[in-house]
Amino acid sequence: MNCPTCNSEKVIKNGTIHNGKQKYACKDCNRQFVLDPKNKISEEKKELIDRLLWEKIPLAGIARTVGVSESWLQTYVNKKCDVIPKVVDVTRKRKG
Ligand SMILES: [Zn+2]
Repeated sequence: MNCPTCNSEKVIKNGTIHNGKQKYACKDCNRQFVLDPKNKISEEKKELIDRLLWEKIPLAGIARTVGVSESWLQTYVNKKCDVIPKVVDVTRKRKG
């Protein structure tokens, strides 16, 4: 589990809130948070998103199909772009 703010893995349990939900605290940014199951994107969903991305489907279409918010999807894609090395465009032909 990662911190929703800084994505750190140094997350510790930090008691519960009034309705008994588990509360967490991030040791890196000191942010306290409660996981909302509604906002939890399952690994299966992420795999589906990955496949749709490869099909060059617009983000808005993917968001609707998978049932996530466009803003979440944009963040997810941005994160992915950070880890995937840029592929050199070899299909472009030189003029001449
Ligand atoms: Zn954090």
